[in-house]
Amino acid sequence: MSQSIPEEVRRLMRPSAAALEPYDPAFSEVRVNLSANENTYGMPADVAANVEGALVRTATNRYPAPLADELRRELAAWHGVSPERVIVGNGGDELLFNLVLAFGGAGHVLVSAPPTFSVYRLYAELVETEVQDVPRDSETFAPDVDALLEAARTASLVVVTSPNNPTGDLFPLEATRRLCAACPGVVLIDEAYIEFAHAGASAKALLAECGNLVVLHTLSKAFCLAGARIGYLVGPSSVMAALAAVRQPYSVNVLSQAAALAVVRGRASFEPVIEKIKAERARLLEGCRARADRRVRAWPSEANFVLVRVPRAHEVRERLRDEHSILVRDFSSAPGLKDCLRITVGTPDENDAVLDALAQLTREERAQ
Ligand SMILES: *Cc1c(COP(=O)(O)O)cnc(C)c1O
Repeated sequence: MSQSIPEEVRRLMRPSAAALEPYDPAFSEVRVNLSANENTYGMPADVAANVEGALVRTATNRYPAPLADELRRELAAWHGVSPERVIVGNGGDELLFNLVLAFGGAGHVLVSAPPTFSVYRLYAELVETEVQDVPRDSETFAPDVDALLEAARTASLVVVTSPNNPTGDLFPLEATRRLCAACPGVVLIDEAYIEFAHAGASAKALLAECGNLVVLHTLSKAFCLAGARIGYLVGPSSVMAALAAVRQPYSVNVLSQAAALAVVRGRASFEPVIEKIKAERARLLEGCRARADRRVRAWPSEANFVLVRVPRAHEVRERLRDEHSILVRDFSSAPGLKDCLRITVGTPDENDAVLDALAQLTREERAQ
């Protein structure tokens, strides 16, 4: 259901907000939903049991610990840092918003490397931050590191996504190191999908040497908590303090904190599922390339999705939904992503369903 803002109300709003429309995730009831990069396998049984127990034991009559102390300690221990270097948010989204709230605004510049996650620009502009785009290569989507370094020199905030959403590629650690050296402000590496990348890919390794580096992680993707809304940043305690100052004190509720604690303690149980998703990613990619014809392009991915370019992508996406009850994400009208669809890696059955449907649709298209 999407709502519109009446003109007389729009006139009352701050201009940066009046320019927006309510967010529409374009969900519909389908058999196979591969549109939002969730973990479609569901939680491992042992962790699910612990989450359930934790929820039952949690009292909701008291306000939550504002900084989610217990969860924060557990996350800090996991990543080998002190708790002051971690902050938990109501999803990574809240942390992205708080970053621009604290470090953005009029007179501040945020540098970003599109095509990428659209939320950075959205939040930055909402609080009147100037967004400076450093576009990726239009064919390979490789970031322009030299141009990023140049732009970073006057930025309050640089945001690079690794693996990038929706292109799936990693940002090299050496480039992150140089970016941190060049930027007087905060460098955020958004690692929402890092659990699906190869070992050693995380910018976390640079935290000790780069004093302005912040890394974003979330429990929404690999760890099955998209509905509970838990994300966190690891970075310098000074930046965490700035974020603690601007945040809504009780944004992370007690039930989500309890569920997240059980998930973080049980994180080892997710490893087989993550490995399975990585294997299925290779199969999905191979399938997209093999079963469809040469006009279909699929980019390599280090995340739990693949980006494909198919002729008449918008129509393909609608037919996948309407004729096959499969939902994928349509990027075909986004700048730089003409005819691109993003497909989340699902279970073997889900991946077979989307591959079969894609093959059928492209076959029909060719026959015309
Ligand atoms: C999903 C995602 C996030 C955060 O998601 P939350 O559910 O709010 O934690 C952050 N960055 C990128 C690039 C994402 O795709």
